[in-house]
Amino acid sequence: MSDPFISIHLDHKTFPSAAGPVRALSKIDLDVEEGGFVVLIGPSGCGKSTLLRIIAGLDLDYAGAVSVGGKRIDGPSPERGFVFQEPRLFPWLTVERNISAGFSPAQPDVRRKIDDLIRLVRLEGFEKSYPKQLSGGMAQRTAIARALYRDPTTLLLDEPFSALDAFTRAHLQNALLEAWLKHGTTTVLVTHDIDEAVTLARRIVVMDARPGSIRAVIPVDLEYPRRRVSPEFEATRYSVLRELETAYGAKEEVRHVA
Ligand code: ADP
Ligand code: MG
Repeated sequence: MSDPFISIHLDHKTFPSAAGPVRALSKIDLDVEEGGFVVLIGPSGCGKSTLLRIIAGLDLDYAGAVSVGGKRIDGPSPERGFVFQEPRLFPWLTVERNISAGFSPAQPDVRRKIDDLIRLVRLEGFEKSYPKQLSGGMAQRTAIARALYRDPTTLLLDEPFSALDAFTRAHLQNALLEAWLKHGTTTVLVTHDIDEAVTLARRIVVMDARPGSIRAVIPVDLEYPRRRVSPEFEATRYSVLRELETAYGAKEEVRHVA
């Protein structure tokens, strides 16, 4: 493999608290190849969001070295698109202006890019709608298109579909997969949904809690689009489940994520 695109060597990440520093992450070594698709999965509170924020450059206060494209991260950058659990759209901007971050759709190059992205996330006809007129799934599609608008080298998504119903979720997973296959954007997605992880990831990183660390890295060498009803899918699903059961330390709790 060539040099990793995202290189994470984290000794630890602590948060201050009244009772002293709390260690949220410990000894994380993870590389993501250019154009890769890595999914982070693990118990709630194991530091998934913290790790994603560090890669985004939203948190620089850690011990270790994290670089993207050979450069140490020193802050947020439009090269790294971020999609949150909720869409966080500007309510006073239309769908197309949310996507173009306010740039005027009257400019031909802006128009072309907006139209491409609208097609990609299948929002044709809603260009001039306002966020309050959209369903949750449509709003989240807008947020994904907005993250892709600046041609990011890296796309970071923190449980982007978890508030959506199963049908919408499957639809958005397909849209994301299409975008990834088309643009080759290096992608890191956080989820607590095992099926989502196996549907999307080239590699699944299972995390342990307290302090957050990597428990297992499971490669998924299945062709896209993946058929959920296949022995290979089921076998991968089971490997992830087994690691998660140990990470949770109790089979009961795993039912919530399965
Ligand atoms: P996850 O996304 O896996 O659920 P988080 O990354 O949100 O986990 O949190 C990891 C740990 O760090 C948790 O114990 C959480 O309470 C703590 N933590 C996260 N953000 C902060 C913060 N801003 N201040 C203090 N503690 C935090
Ligand atoms: Mg989180």
